[in-house]
Amino acid sequence: MPITYSSRAPILPLPQDVAERIAAGEVIERPVSVVKELVENALDAGATEVRVEIRGGGMRLIRVTDDGCGIPEDELERASARHNTSKINRLEDLEHLHTLGFRGEALASIAAVSELTLLSRAIETETMGEEHPALFITWRGGEVTQRGRKARLHGTTVTVRDLFYNVPARLKFMRGARTEAGHIERLLRRYAVGYPGVRFHLTIEEHAALQTGGSGNLATTLAELYHLPLAEMLNPIAVNTDEDSAHAFALHGYIGNRALAQNNRQHVTLFVNGRWVQSRPLQEALEAGYRGLLPKGKHPLLVLHVDLPTEDVDVNVHPAKTEVKLLHEAEVIEAMTKAIRGVLERSPALPEEAQFPGPQLVYQRRLPGVRRRGLHVSESAEHYSVEKPDPGAAEVLATLRPLAQLQQAVILAEAPDGSLYLIDQHRAHERVIYEHLRRTYTGVGAQENQGEEWTGSHLLLEPVIVELKRHEAELFEMRLPLLRGLGLECERFGGRSFLIRSVPGGVGQEQLAGHLPELARIAAEDSDEWENRLLIGLACRSALRRGRTLGLDEQRSLINALANATAPAVCPHGSPILLHYSRTFLIDKFDW
Ligand code: ADP
Ligand code: MG
Repeated sequence: MPITYSSRAPILPLPQDVAERIAAGEVIERPVSVVKELVENALDAGATEVRVEIRGGGMRLIRVTDDGCGIPEDELERASARHNTSKINRLEDLEHLHTLGFRGEALASIAAVSELTLLSRAIETETMGEEHPALFITWRGGEVTQRGRKARLHGTTVTVRDLFYNVPARLKFMRGARTEAGHIERLLRRYAVGYPGVRFHLTIEEHAALQTGGSGNLATTLAELYHLPLAEMLNPIAVNTDEDSAHAFALHGYIGNRALAQNNRQHVTLFVNGRWVQSRPLQEALEAGYRGLLPKGKHPLLVLHVDLPTEDVDVNVHPAKTEVKLLHEAEVIEAMTKAIRGVLERSPALPEEAQFPGPQLVYQRRLPGVRRRGLHVSESAEHYSVEKPDPGAAEVLATLRPLAQLQQAVILAEAPDGSLYLIDQHRAHERVIYEHLRRTYTGVGAQENQGEEWTGSHLLLEPVIVELKRHEAELFEMRLPLLRGLGLECERFGGRSFLIRSVPGGVGQEQLAGHLPELARIAAEDSDEWENRLLIGLACRSALRRGRTLGLDEQRSLINALANATAPAVCPHGSPILLHYSRTFLIDKFDW
């Protein structure tokens, strides 16, 4: 069939109002994007208090009030014109940005698709007194419809009504008011932790939804936002690169205790120079930090601030400015991942977060009235986390004195300070073996290996034959040299069968033999994860089982081996190994 071009129209410039609305769409996707821009303007204006009010999910009304520097009267009208900004005026300024905004597009975009009112009083005019009320201007669809005066102290009030009234296509994509309000609440929560020195207040449909005190303390702000009983549920992160190193940067923030882990990433927040960002590589760096240290699918409560010289950050990557590029990204990424791992690897579980198969030692009850969308904190956490072990508590392991074994599964041990540790023997051993295998396999720190029993491979009395599927067999064959390096001697035995002659040394060989078919299939998986999964599988299948009686000497040597592990608090699957009952806990319980 011949192609016809009859429907092609000539190239013409877009009518201005159409162009305006299209441009607006790049910045203003939905109500939450309006709130974001207005809050950023308030912060750029040096506000110490930001109040946000929304109705109809922000479609009917958004009002942001701040106590910032205000806008001088003779500039007020200009504020809503495209590419008008007070924040930069030369291209070079982009390299030294100290403000969240700089494109001069937000107010223009909002004005194009709503009814916008700016009421502002510049801080310099305040001395002129009440008889000189502040100026306001209203635009609808970008045209001025009203001007007037109103009393107010210095600062700015921006009111946005009837969002997208003139963009029906956009309106169609809006979800219900509740969904939009939910986005806005999450946004405000993010800015509140990004700017703990600013008081935030959010009213949704005339109900107070969120409030912070602006104490300037991040832990306090987190406790306010999440109704956490104690800031002790949070572990601090603080990294400062050497001042005279070429690429200086600093990381600071908090990571919540495992009890606060959630099933989604909603509470993982990252700021770069005070700007909330979502860049993929940075996000992944955070995840890499807690992957394997929390159960699969769990995400921590995590707030991290990255501060670095302004010239090392490019924020001009995306219209919403939520993506950034860092000049020395690889270094920052490595430090981020390491900092998070460092904290999680060393923090033992608190009693209320344990997932033991044994009896519940702590009476647990959910706190009533914990906010629906907020984090859930059990009552016991409130009372007994007072004396939370510090992040370095894993070092205590080396000083523990084993007392007894409970249910042939858990070692009870006393710390020098009189507190009690419970150690899951299977997970502890799993962790020790896993790290040993990883060292052997990657060659890292191999010389630190702990004695003869750990080295080489162990020849099986009877080789094990495993049969694989055809595609598995091919991958498996290719990986034979790698497996050999791990102590798994295998050879092809014709067709799709393989003979496994040996297993890694010192890892409970007899116990392992029966699991070799399952492990071989892991070693034949078509995935990047196969190596780590195989190490975990080997560790899990050869670790001491629950139900095995351990003498005090065996308990002691397991604790010592665990004390040498880099991540003694979590098993390779991400479940807790240690449970700590602080002295306070015991004192409280017995009412001493
Ligand atoms: P940008 O923030 O990129 O400069 P905007 O369209 O968001 O662009 O705002 C335009 C200008 O209006 C800003 O540069 C600033 O001078 C002024 N402005 C906007 N909101 C406020 C506010 N809340 N307080 C003081 N000035 C403001
Ligand atoms: Mg702005």
